[in-house]
Amino acid sequence: MTSTPTSTVQLAHTFADELPELTLDWQAAELPAPELLVLNESLARQLGLDPAELRSPEGLGVLTGTRPPPGARPVAQLYAGHQFGSWNPRMGDGRALLLGDLTAPSGARFDLHLKGSGRTPFARGGDGYAAVGPMLREYVLSESMAALGIPTTRALAVVATGAVVRRERALPGAILVRVAAGHLRVGSVEYARATGDVALLRRVADHAIARHHPTAADAAHPYRALFEAVVAAQAQLIAQWMAVGFIHGVMNTDNMTLSGETIDYGPCAFLDAYDPTTWFSSIDELGRYAYGRQPAIAEWDLARLGEAMLPLLGDDPEVSDDLDTAVAWATGALTSFGALYRAARRARYLAKLGLPQAVTADETDPLIEQLLTLLKQGRVDFTGFFRALTAAASGDDAMLSGLGAPEVELQTWLGQWRRVGADSIDAAAMAAVNPVYIPRNHLVQEALDAATAGDLAPFTTLVDVLRDPFVERPGLDRYALPADADFAADFQTFCGT
Ligand code: AMP
Ligand code: MG
Repeated sequence: MTSTPTSTVQLAHTFADELPELTLDWQAAELPAPELLVLNESLARQLGLDPAELRSPEGLGVLTGTRPPPGARPVAQLYAGHQFGSWNPRMGDGRALLLGDLTAPSGARFDLHLKGSGRTPFARGGDGYAAVGPMLREYVLSESMAALGIPTTRALAVVATGAVVRRERALPGAILVRVAAGHLRVGSVEYARATGDVALLRRVADHAIARHHPTAADAAHPYRALFEAVVAAQAQLIAQWMAVGFIHGVMNTDNMTLSGETIDYGPCAFLDAYDPTTWFSSIDELGRYAYGRQPAIAEWDLARLGEAMLPLLGDDPEVSDDLDTAVAWATGALTSFGALYRAARRARYLAKLGLPQAVTADETDPLIEQLLTLLKQGRVDFTGFFRALTAAASGDDAMLSGLGAPEVELQTWLGQWRRVGADSIDAAAMAAVNPVYIPRNHLVQEALDAATAGDLAPFTTLVDVLRDPFVERPGLDRYALPADADFAADFQTFCGT
């Protein structure tokens, strides 16, 4: 008798051990014909995993959750959340599982998480599955964000399941294997608070501190320090989104992490023409999550976090019924979001403009706002403009014309920019922050359509291009250009993917 080889992947179950009330032991669904579509080999190595082993039948069993490694304990996570502003007391992983966590060779701890692994008791009306297109979409978008230097969950693999998923039409099914610093969301804290169990709320906060914001443990008031740390991390994150034109699309509180990583790439997309009122998500009827509203929405979500944490935010962290003091403190702490966001945004735009960070706000704020007004007036391609400006910083203004900005105003603005920058505009620094290649909506669509029809080549090429977004390379011109106007006018993204 031959023994069945087992995986050498070792997974702990820290979350389930520490917060069992927020988990439900669950198993991934069996799959008719799993086939590995894409494996992120460099990420696998960073995690200390062997790509060759992950490609083996045992590895595929791990990646799909159908044969978890010995000792693993997959769970569905429970959380609540505000969806489009409305309270939902019970959401949780309807089609996802936390497979476990591991410690990478760097010493950092990561969750391995599956999306599309079958129905759980939290599936409500959903079928528990996911289609190839949307899972590859999360893969390419999240990997692009990582390459842009933006905190994000990562994508380790996409496995086709061999099953058919019914959406508007029949589609091939898939599982995404996601890697994250952690999966605690604002909605996790809201869930704990809603149970009325303050001891549980405290343990959730302790877990968040230990895992994501360890310096808060040394503060005089660790829970206040935790709240401040999450506010600061989100202010930085949203400023980074805005600086590359990223529109998340569904900033519900269950899709905001405590770690400060971008999570849940459902209906997200990048701006082409600069217009703060842009949104693409078909389910966002009122544009609640439009590009320009993201900072205000983040603050709204953080207010929900503050409310959920109130029993921990009184003067004495051990006293949970000091709510008046807690409300007063949390209200004040929340106002720091605006200042932190504005400072982070200014820093990002100064970098995009090649200006030293020391230039005074009096000089630079009007410069930034006037530029954005120009871009909006001319419906100028946001990414293309800053790359053309990078060339202009080296003396080549040619790329700037024809982008749509009103010519006279643009020349005036360029004069001001050069005056403010004096001799210190740094073209090399600009090239390091203004990407050439972002996941253009039409290119993503083209790659996913081909992959759904069985051809992964355009997807693989796109992922390769986006892995190195700041270095212009020959032969890749079409990856740097926006979609034509017809495509842009009709483009929509879909949730319920
Ligand atoms: P999302 O919009 O991806 O953040 O998902 C919101 C909630 O709906 C989460 O609780 C998901 O687990 C759940 N969900 C989304 N799609 C499905 C599906 N096809 N089957 C079951 N649950 C789903
Ligand atoms: Mg979600």
